[in-house]
Amino acid sequence: MTPLLTTRDLRKNYGGLRAVDGVDFTLLPGEIHAIIGPNGAGKTTFVSLVCGRVMPSSGTIIFDGDDITDLPAYRRVRQGIAYTFQITSVFAHLSAYDNVALPMQRTLTDGRSRAKLHAGVMNALERTGLAGRANSLAGTLSYGHQRLLEVAMGLALKPRLLILDEPTQGLSDGEIAGFMDLVREIAQDATVLLIEHNMQVVMGLADRITVMNAGRILAEGTPADIRANDEVQRAYLGTE
Ligand code: ATP
Repeated sequence: MTPLLTTRDLRKNYGGLRAVDGVDFTLLPGEIHAIIGPNGAGKTTFVSLVCGRVMPSSGTIIFDGDDITDLPAYRRVRQGIAYTFQITSVFAHLSAYDNVALPMQRTLTDGRSRAKLHAGVMNALERTGLAGRANSLAGTLSYGHQRLLEVAMGLALKPRLLILDEPTQGLSDGEIAGFMDLVREIAQDATVLLIEHNMQVVMGLADRITVMNAGRILAEGTPADIRANDEVQRAYLGTE
């Protein structure tokens, strides 16, 4: 199977600190892939390199056969890479609807009609269970709904790859269960790369898991492989 995303010897240094230190990573189309690892392992920096929020010190990023290493973030969005980050980034003073419409408008390159824009926004709000809140100001939504709104903003771009950085942080158990169903639904027609600290979510959702430690890949495999890996147990899982 041709990978959707490959990184080769990817590095990001901050001064003397090797935040990402030679990562060779492969993402297969259609999979739900979780990245786990202790605080400061380089997970956020790694996915930031993939989506272009941060540019690498060296190495290569190939997406769907194209070298995107030097592409700015907005061009990667057009290629089908959407992301939501740890810190909620919704516009509080805009409606949920407008929050979803805004990034779509920014990336529309083919002169799509207003009707198509509307259909795309409503589809993303419906999939995330927020259609009834379309006209609510984002700032009045609960924290959980704001996180879902961010996912809707990504989904509306019809990504081939959706990157989620700690999406369940701060959610209630009920919200987490709903979120897991949503990710499974998203994965029917997109590839999902998620950073996640909640091991129940990771083990319940991921097809494959990459464990990072100190900027490097420590292990990779199915949830069963990772559970059985002594090195991972010592470096990470055992300390949870
Ligand atoms: P967490 O689980 O806490 O989010 P992480 O695995 O995502 O951690 P990163 O946020 O990628 O880790 O950070 C990796 C290392 O790079 C850390 O030591 C962090 O302090 C450092 N780092 C990240 N961003 C910057 C930056 N902009 N400038 C300097 N150092 C940075």
